[in-house]
Amino acid sequence: MPSPDSPLLFALGLPAGIVLWSFMEYVLHRFAFHEARGSNYGSREHLRHHGSEDTVLESWYLSWTGVALVSLGLIPLLGRLAGAADLGWGVGIGYLVAYGFYDLVHWRAHRRPYANRYEHMVRKHHFTHHFHAPLKNHGVTTPFWDHVFGTYVEVDVVRVPRRMAMRWMIDEHGEVLPEYRSTYELRGTRALDDDQREQDRALAFANQAPTL
Ligand SMILES: [Zn+2]
Ligand SMILES: [Zn+2]
Ligand SMILES: [Zn+2]
Repeated sequence: MPSPDSPLLFALGLPAGIVLWSFMEYVLHRFAFHEARGSNYGSREHLRHHGSEDTVLESWYLSWTGVALVSLGLIPLLGRLAGAADLGWGVGIGYLVAYGFYDLVHWRAHRRPYANRYEHMVRKHHFTHHFHAPLKNHGVTTPFWDHVFGTYVEVDVVRVPRRMAMRWMIDEHGEVLPEYRSTYELRGTRALDDDQREQDRALAFANQAPTL
C-alpha cells in the first residue's frame, strides 16, 4: 500500500468509507440477499442463515475476499483515476474496517451476550428482522438506512421460536435469562425434526418469519 502523501485527504476518506459500507450493508442485505430470493450464492447462504440457528459466517472467506477486492482494489483505483489517490485509500480502508466491525457485530449478535447498550439496540433491531419481518430492518450495525428507506420496524418484545433461540439468551433449562426477558420471549417447543427444518428453510427463502 503506498503511504498517503496527503494525510488530510486520507483521514477524510475514512469516515466516508465507513458511511459507504453502512449503506452497502443495507443495499446488499436487502436487495442482493433478501429480494433476490435465493437466486445467487450469497442470497442462498443468507437465507439459510435465516432458516437455521446454526449458520452464521459460513463462507466468511468469500465475503472477505469480495470486500478486500473492493476496499483495497476497486475503491483505491477509482480514487487514483479521479486524481485523488489518498482519498481513495482512506475510503477503502474505512470501508474495510467498517465491514470487519459489521462482521463482528453480526457474529456476536448470534453467538455472544451483548456487552453494551449499542449491541443491545442493534441486535434487537436485527432479531426483529429475523423473527418478525425479514423484509424490514436490513441494517445490522445501524438502523439509520432503514429509517431513510422506510423499512424500519420496532416491536416491544421480540418473539423467538424456541428452536432458534440464541445460546447466549437462555439458561440451562432453555428459558430466557431474567435480564433479557423484557426484550425477548421464547415461543413453541424446542423440538426440531426434518419437517420443521424444511418448513423453516422454505419460509426463510420466501422472506417470511419462521412460525413460532
Ligand atoms: Zn443474522
Ligand atoms: Zn436477513
Ligand atoms: Zn432456569
